[in-house]
Amino acid sequence: HRDQDRGAEVRGAAGPLPLGSPAVPAVPGAFRNTPDTDLSTAANQAWAARITHRIRGSELGQAEVRAARLETVEAVDSVLATAVAAQPAWEALGVEKRAMILRRVAGTLAAHRGELLEVMASETGKTLEQGDPEVSEAIDFALYYAEQAEQLARRTDLVGRARPLTLVTPPWNFPVAIPTGGALAALVTGSAVVMKPAPQSRRCGALIGRLLHEAGVPEGVFTLVDVPENEVGRALIADERISQLILTGASDTAAMFASWRPELRILAETSGKNSIIVTPQADLDLAARDVAASAFGHAGQKCSAASLVITVGSVTHSRRFSAQLADAVLSLHVGAPTDPTVQMGPVIEPPGEKLRSGLTELSDGETWLSRPRQLDEEGRTFSPGVRTGVQEGSPFHLTEYFGPVLGVIHAETLEDAVRIQNGTAYGLTAGLHSLEPAEIAWWTEHVEAGNLYVNRGITGAIVERQPFGGWKRSAIGQTAKAGGPNYLVHLTDWADAGDVP
Ligand code: GLU
Repeated sequence: HRDQDRGAEVRGAAGPLPLGSPAVPAVPGAFRNTPDTDLSTAANQAWAARITHRIRGSELGQAEVRAARLETVEAVDSVLATAVAAQPAWEALGVEKRAMILRRVAGTLAAHRGELLEVMASETGKTLEQGDPEVSEAIDFALYYAEQAEQLARRTDLVGRARPLTLVTPPWNFPVAIPTGGALAALVTGSAVVMKPAPQSRRCGALIGRLLHEAGVPEGVFTLVDVPENEVGRALIADERISQLILTGASDTAAMFASWRPELRILAETSGKNSIIVTPQADLDLAARDVAASAFGHAGQKCSAASLVITVGSVTHSRRFSAQLADAVLSLHVGAPTDPTVQMGPVIEPPGEKLRSGLTELSDGETWLSRPRQLDEEGRTFSPGVRTGVQEGSPFHLTEYFGPVLGVIHAETLEDAVRIQNGTAYGLTAGLHSLEPAEIAWWTEHVEAGNLYVNRGITGAIVERQPFGGWKRSAIGQTAKAGGPNYLVHLTDWADAGDVP
């Protein structure tokens, strides 16, 4: 995230930003991205150290999780009935007042940055360095969607256009930014929201729910629910009162939900198998650094992560790039987020069969440039793995592993490299490292992915600047990208009219 010039600022020894901080502009029409914490200053390091100290044994959000637990189909029914009853008044409130509440949410999130970092680290193992930009992104979503809603309301009448009830099912890997963004986008259009956090990040979801209510989103208009993934969960997703679903998660989950209710409007951002092409015209130092950061940030557990690097022509044969990549990877400090110097933390749970095979099994022609080693007893912390000699069409070319393992695949020409890059079922992010304008232009024309990055890492999309969404199997019904100008209208009935204002 460092290289994306969101800016960074001093939080001060006194702790997180107070409510109404100047970092959160309260005036409509003035959207700008919220700066991350500058972790290079002594004051902020002291602030971060206090958070780090609280991670172990943190219980933040636990009480709210218990209150959100629904054990029966009847309990689901009653939550949905309450949400449906609360929605008309929320819609009647009007865009301006809803946007104002979103701006208050931004202030509340900023004021609780430290708690959000604490709960993310304690519950999911996310390091502070990875979590901090995520809180900035959540604040960005609040401010940006507030402004977008006001602009949309100037172009068209939103009254009566909201889809009454939105179910948001976010993932555990971005347990703050993605739930906040999805919920606020729907809320500002006038929809009521029921949110079911991923089981691995319930407490993050619960804390967000508390902050939304604190900022003025009425009870009933936003409800956090924790349902078991059995007939109770199914009753929630299959209920006809839910008019749309905002989902981020696995392609298979999205497809399963779609099959339960074919008429349900789904906006889903799903899996990826993303790669970065490095041509002989690249700045190889920069490329090695960006590939390592994109592959191993958050231990590779991002839909946007680089899982393959495609080296073109002499980049493979010269060995210079692989030596630099090995240096970049082997120098990463791996461990628990309770150690503030750690750059790569654990994976969410001991790997299942698929990730385990990615970390251990080589196919024909492959060798380890850096073999993953298990570093803890629990089996969640691994040194980063890099395999070379990956063949086109092999399991490693085509499968998403969602963990700290990267493959290097050779291509003779840029054309071959793009064929390999496009040769998976997915199309979420894609990168090119080349300083040659003609290569960049050709690549941009031919690559098939929702988010394209040239001469930088491929993770860490920034609200407004890099609206985020996929193509092919990386999306279902995702006609507009999150954090971009068309997102809100696609959450309203205007999108059905086929005549988007
Ligand atoms: N928006 C995130 C990024 O650009 C990825 C989100 C995800 O993993 O679902 O890195």
